[in-house]
Amino acid sequence: MIGYQLTDEHEELRATVAEFARDVVAPVIGDYYERCEFPYDIVGRMGKLGLFGLPFPEEYGGMGGDIFALCLAIEELARVDSSVAITLEAAVALGAMPLYRFGSEDQRRRWLPELCAGERLAAFGLTEPGGGSDIRGGMRTTARLDAGEWVIDGSKAFITNAGTSITSLVTVLARTGEDAGRRDISTIIVPAGTPGLTVGGKYSKVGWSASDTRELAFDSCRVPADYLLGELGRGYAQFLATLDEGRVAIASLATGLAAGCVAECLRHVADREAFGHRLGHYQAIQFKLADMEARAHTARLAWYDAAARLAAGQRAKKQASIAKLIASNAAMDNARDATQIFGGYGYMNEYPVARFYRDAKVLEIGEGTSEVQRMIIARELGLNAIR
Ligand SMILES: Cc1cc2nc3c(=O)[nH]c(=O)nc-3n(C[C@H](O)[C@H](O)[C@H](O)COP(=O)(O)OP(=O)(O)OC[C@H]3O[C@@H](n4cnc5c(N)ncnc54)[C@H](O)[C@@H]3O)c2cc1C
Repeated sequence: MIGYQLTDEHEELRATVAEFARDVVAPVIGDYYERCEFPYDIVGRMGKLGLFGLPFPEEYGGMGGDIFALCLAIEELARVDSSVAITLEAAVALGAMPLYRFGSEDQRRRWLPELCAGERLAAFGLTEPGGGSDIRGGMRTTARLDAGEWVIDGSKAFITNAGTSITSLVTVLARTGEDAGRRDISTIIVPAGTPGLTVGGKYSKVGWSASDTRELAFDSCRVPADYLLGELGRGYAQFLATLDEGRVAIASLATGLAAGCVAECLRHVADREAFGHRLGHYQAIQFKLADMEARAHTARLAWYDAAARLAAGQRAKKQASIAKLIASNAAMDNARDATQIFGGYGYMNEYPVARFYRDAKVLEIGEGTSEVQRMIIARELGLNAIR
């Protein structure tokens, strides 16, 4: 038997972040969202709380926790707002984590402390305009060595945290070999402001409106040869490992959104009246809320399972994809039902459920679409061997 009882330490972290989300994020995030403005103030305070350093050792300025702790924090933030949750997720699980996992001691000491403090943010540059699911087939960005420097040409699409005034760097996946084989891709660190790197304007998005998402263009962008992350030709393996953790983190975010829908609806149905009773009196509403709670609970168990395995150093590719698939479905379904329960108010941007509705869809797309998760699960089941 495996129990999913939180340790005292995890419970304390969960409660601290819940309080922060309630007292600091909830009162103001709707305005940032409407203005499509990045919430520097909130992100700064998240940094002071230590959230950006959660899974990293103290010697680099981290909190000495693990991926499970990070996911707990992300879930609590996402109960209230997904823009701040994805900012944390992308900065830590996608941006800083590869530096910690694959970086040299010099690279870690140079960049991790400011990232752990949340003073600067890291971004992860994998997706390209020509393809996100078929990374190898779609990758056009190249990097070649010239006079002791990498020269990068190409572009990246939809990169989170890439254009804030506190962006530190982006880890860029590029073809360093002749073909698009697994050993032809490497990861290179490109600091913000490097000549030849152009940061595009903010996308106008359906949701996650207070987060920063940009296109990046590289035109003979030069960085020193020792900005290569890990070994030459290991980029493909590195991003697969990074995405295993990233998917669990996105699953925790989706779980938070699904649970946030339940919390908002419980308040609403205890108050709103129709046909002589509060909405919560009607079984049709009760059953909807029962289904919503069941989805959020199942999603939480799925990410707990995957995160606990990863934190214990175990392989969890299948569990990570299952968690991402289940939790993003739960978020979408709960956001739809919550909006319905709120009626007309659910369609008004000033209500959190409207934000949840707009924020849910991307969870089925980012860090591997639901179809990609099914491909991975099917592969893990050995179905690829059937001819
Ligand atoms: C707000 C936002 C933030 C993001 N942040 C980042 C980031 O920080 N870093 C980063 O690198 N990327 C980021 N992404 C990119 C994201 O990971 C990609 O959008 C995603 O992986 C899908 O790739 P794509 O958009 O190219 O879709 P495509 O790969 O073109 O897929 C289109 C559709 O076809 C389906 N499909 C593709 N192949 C198959 C197949 N063989 N069988 C069945 N269906 C298939 C897909 O499931 C999808 O439904 C972000 C995206 C968004 C929207």
